[in-house]
Amino acid sequence: MNSSLNNIFIFWSFCFGAVIASFLNVVIWRVPRCESIVRPPSHCPKCSAPIRWYQNIPILSYLALRGRCASCKTRISPRYIFVEVLGGALFAAAWAYLGGPWGTVLWPWFALMIVGSMIDFDHHLLPDFVTVGGIVYGLLLNAVFSLLARSPAPLFLGVSGLAMGFGVMYLARILGGKLFGQEAMGMGDVILMGAVGAISGPVAVLFVLIVGCLAGICGGVVAMALGGKLKRRFEIPFGPYICLAHLVFLFAGEPIIVWYLGALSRLTGALG
Ligand SMILES: [Zn+2]
Repeated sequence: MNSSLNNIFIFWSFCFGAVIASFLNVVIWRVPRCESIVRPPSHCPKCSAPIRWYQNIPILSYLALRGRCASCKTRISPRYIFVEVLGGALFAAAWAYLGGPWGTVLWPWFALMIVGSMIDFDHHLLPDFVTVGGIVYGLLLNAVFSLLARSPAPLFLGVSGLAMGFGVMYLARILGGKLFGQEAMGMGDVILMGAVGAISGPVAVLFVLIVGCLAGICGGVVAMALGGKLKRRFEIPFGPYICLAHLVFLFAGEPIIVWYLGALSRLTGALG
């Protein structure tokens, strides 16, 4: 594909991602509150003024209104524009770095991860439609790849990844429960790791486990250092870290693994 045409596709991927993420904002707010995601139409939570279509354009409306409701001027959480930019950036990056049109097969998973991370962050729970949905999507995707490639390899990768992701996390949940006498890991995290495996296979599970734990520890240290309000929320949900680590794997997993193995062999070489 010539590069200017490719840039146009990347641009439209960003726009599409931002539009989808704008809808995800509604899902993130309403689903944990058991509200319908279609009715009533978008309105200001403070003054109930309906949000007109031209006030509902992703990113641009937020900037034009300077992050305030058009009628009562109440501040709108910057979370909204953050999620919209994130959705746009991930969709565009999938096209730009994960093989053009092929990268777009990950769009639905990116959308699920955004919803899951935000709901887990707010409410410490991972909805089944995110975690179980991710497993179903991963297996379906790899089944289609198997059919296209006329090889059982992709489907085997998905099934073994699912078994490993679910298995390792379930074991950690049982052991953690016995060691600490309280729930160390939610069932949502267990199923979410199963989804990571179903999509990307067993190597991804290992990678996400290590990188996710490291990121989680860093986050915990930062939260403790900040103290105050954040410290009280000491129990930082693992879901967003799993998602973050899976994104790192998808976009940079290969070079990181190659670098790590290289460093390891240099180290053993130097020692031996
Ligand atoms: Zn208002």
